[in-house]
Amino acid sequence: MTRLYNGPMPIADGPPVSVLPGTGAKQHTLANSVRCSGVGLHCGDPIAVRMHPAPADTGVRLRRADVPNAPPIQANWANVRETPLCTTLADGVTQIATVEHLLAALAAMGVDNADVEVHGPEVPIMDGSAAPFVFLIECAGRAPQQAARRAIRIEKPVTVHDTAQDRSAALAPGSNGLTLDVTIAFNSPAIGQQARTARLDAHTFKRDLARARTFGFLAEVDQLRAVGLALGGSLDNAVVIDDDRVLNTEGLRYPDEFVRHKMLDSVGDLFLAGAPIMGRYTGRRTGHALNRRLLAALFADPEAWSWIDDPGDTRHEAVHGAGPALPERAVAQRE
Ligand SMILES: [Zn+2]
Repeated sequence: MTRLYNGPMPIADGPPVSVLPGTGAKQHTLANSVRCSGVGLHCGDPIAVRMHPAPADTGVRLRRADVPNAPPIQANWANVRETPLCTTLADGVTQIATVEHLLAALAAMGVDNADVEVHGPEVPIMDGSAAPFVFLIECAGRAPQQAARRAIRIEKPVTVHDTAQDRSAALAPGSNGLTLDVTIAFNSPAIGQQARTARLDAHTFKRDLARARTFGFLAEVDQLRAVGLALGGSLDNAVVIDDDRVLNTEGLRYPDEFVRHKMLDSVGDLFLAGAPIMGRYTGRRTGHALNRRLLAALFADPEAWSWIDDPGDTRHEAVHGAGPALPERAVAQRE
């Protein structure tokens, strides 16, 4: 069954729905195939995305459907190619840009396994938020699978810095689940300094984070277009700031929409660990590149993390001690 969504942006308010992950320890995939279409932020062309159910232990794989025989690319930090403004997955044959908002929605909605076909070089930007992808996942529904879900538990603090730019990102042991603590600081009075903490679950994500849009400064947009980027960017898919003003006539969706979007981005970035992370994430003026460095530092230290089963249960038991560093092990779990 395929359902089509390319209508107006859904408003992701309202009570929890049946798609919410429960406390179950099972992996989940999509119950049905779904598709949507939208404009690519960078190329400016219309692009369709199809998402399909996938077997347990395969993780999220994205494939260029417009390139004959293109292999799927695992959504894993080891496959990230650093590009300006967005997260790009690449395998040496093809690449797919702007994956982060889709991955954030899959992560937060508890979808462990899915095959994603992208009919172009990037995932469409939609309205600049994760809300359309949450809507898609809700349309598809979630289906439990036999295999147990495994999570990555943080065992000791890991921090990476960009001291020149006064940025840092850290993971530390925490209670069950993932807690996000994010701070941003911009010179523009339209943003200023914003901080927010949230414990990630599907309902909180949907209510508090999913609708927060990506943002940029008008002067930067002009520079990007001059080099052929952000050709699809508009006030329909980004909050655009000119000095101390938000140019979008509809205003902001949340008073602190900017920090909420950074949290959304971090959820997508951390999903590239290859499994849900259990611990506390702290981001200070962080971004995609620093978050990727954080995962690299985490998996470079085998004592910093362990696999656990059953993240919905409080009686977690470590099933592995220290072992070989990722990416080999995490990727192996997903193939
Ligand atoms: Zn973003």
